[in-house]
Amino acid sequence: MRKVIIIGGGPAGLSAGIFLSRDKIPTLIIEKFSCGGNMLLTENIENYPGFPDGISGFELSENMKKQFIKFGGKIKNGEVEKIKLEDDKKIVKLKNGEEFITDVIIIASGSSRKKLNVKGEKEFTGKGVSYCAICDGAFFKEKEVAVVGGGDSAIEEAIYLSNFANLVYLIHRRDRLRAKKYLQKEAQNNEKIKFILPYIVKEIKGKEKVEYLILQNMSNHNITELKIDGVFISAGQVPNTEFLNGILKTDEKGFIIVNERMETNIKGIYACGDVIKKLLYQIITACSEGMIAAYFAEKYIENL
Ligand SMILES: Cc1cc2nc3c(=O)[nH]c(=O)nc-3n(C[C@H](O)[C@H](O)[C@H](O)COP(=O)(O)OP(=O)(O)OC[C@H]3O[C@@H](n4cnc5c(N)ncnc54)[C@H](O)[C@@H]3O)c2cc1C
Repeated sequence: MRKVIIIGGGPAGLSAGIFLSRDKIPTLIIEKFSCGGNMLLTENIENYPGFPDGISGFELSENMKKQFIKFGGKIKNGEVEKIKLEDDKKIVKLKNGEEFITDVIIIASGSSRKKLNVKGEKEFTGKGVSYCAICDGAFFKEKEVAVVGGGDSAIEEAIYLSNFANLVYLIHRRDRLRAKKYLQKEAQNNEKIKFILPYIVKEIKGKEKVEYLILQNMSNHNITELKIDGVFISAGQVPNTEFLNGILKTDEKGFIIVNERMETNIKGIYACGDVIKKLLYQIITACSEGMIAAYFAEKYIENL
């Protein structure tokens, strides 16, 4: 029996955990991979306050994890498969069959990369198709790669990949990018980055590994081939909510709907960070919502 179970050990989950364990509330974070979440995909975080020279995503993750453990927080490695409700108790079931009973759940399971859902994507994942430039970029030293997407992450990844690759094609479906202006400028000034707009990827082709992309021009619908050694998909995020089985209210894309206390439609279940419907998906907002969820979860426990 745990007072609070937090699903996901990214910045939202760790911030909630730090607040609760510092207040001596027994708290367990269940994390399926490694604490840090999407921060681990970021080489250098420059917009998190307190680090004037930036901080690596790995170091910031480790610092938050240490702070949580220092106050007595516990971490369990495992993937949540289901949440069951029995009277006032909540049961969290893991994929390995283990079950945990708790009073309060904080869902901080974040989001994952959207798939393009084109032919060849699944087949070549790990064989030239990647969803993480930080993890796989170094495999493409002096090669030619493509990044698919037009947001901040896509541009950041293209810039990062230009440290390794000879040439980085940035493919986006519209003739304008969504990314922040200063990032666009940085990419435009980078001789190794070439923009391919407005194009979509129709298919990823190769024999043993990725060799080329079939692209379609969105203005005249012409089809072309682009020879590359790897393709990084950076086409947005989808919320990690498969384990909810429809028990919580979400928007049409699956992001959980919460109020300003981070309460969901079920008493004792809170949600925070990238898994909720909101306007800004950043580390600082995830941490702030984690703290708010923890604060109101603690008040809820006091009244049980
Ligand atoms: C490439 C990239 C670069 C970015 N750069 C920046 C930046 O420079 N500055 C900035 O402020 N933000 C940046 N962001 C955004 C930022 O990383 C996110 O807003 C933030 O990490 C969200 O935190 P979170 O805790 O809500 O979710 P996440 O970081 O996604 O963490 C969720 C955690 O939950 C775990 N999880 C999911 N499902 C389950 C399950 N069923 N069972 C157990 N565990 C589960 C996941 O493994 C993960 O560790 C970037 C994002 C990306 C992808």
